[in-house]
Amino acid sequence: MLLVEDEARLVESLTKGLRTADVDVTAVRTGRDGLRLALEDGFDIMVLDIGLPDQEGFTVLRKLRASGSELPVIILTARTSAEDTVRGLERGADDYMAKPFSFDELVARVRLRARARPEEEQGSAQLIRVGRCELDPIERTLACDGIDVPLSPREFQLAHLLMSRGGEVVPRADALQEVWGSAARDNVLDVYIRYLRTHVGQGAIETVRGVGYRFVG
Ligand code: CA
Repeated sequence: MLLVEDEARLVESLTKGLRTADVDVTAVRTGRDGLRLALEDGFDIMVLDIGLPDQEGFTVLRKLRASGSELPVIILTARTSAEDTVRGLERGADDYMAKPFSFDELVARVRLRARARPEEEQGSAQLIRVGRCELDPIERTLACDGIDVPLSPREFQLAHLLMSRGGEVVPRADALQEVWGSAARDNVLDVYIRYLRTHVGQGAIETVRGVGYRFVG
């Protein structure tokens, strides 16, 4: 993750926290450095402050999009005005957070917005089939019995994980770590399994007591 932010204390706490959540962070404090690194294309997401010492974050965002980059961008704004938000989203931001924000929420949004990993992008329509369900990791769709199943991004991540293990048991700890990161509470998994079952059918996901869950379709 590329963090463009000039408040030293915020940078320090975010960097430390994000590393704990297994997110690699490169932090710079000016718009110029941010833009240069963003265009080098090694990043999966940029978190961009609006109030920077050399130029507005909006300017960085506009230049980035003008260069054809589709790097996902979350803007950080000290102001909560609707105008700022609209401006950011119009200039190609994918999401925004108003300061002060909760760290957990930032991590959740970073995970949600971060560009799909290359192996998913190159997957050349590699469908994952388990039982009567079929998941398309590129289009991010799931269909069971040929009927589209609408899923939230988090539900999709969980379905993807379970189905990509090809009917094997996924341990609870693995699912929590991969879908929610290390800050997850244990019971969030049960809640999402329940959501997912309402979409794909109660019998489609088996509970393996004391171990985890298995997708059988
Ligand atoms: Ca600032």
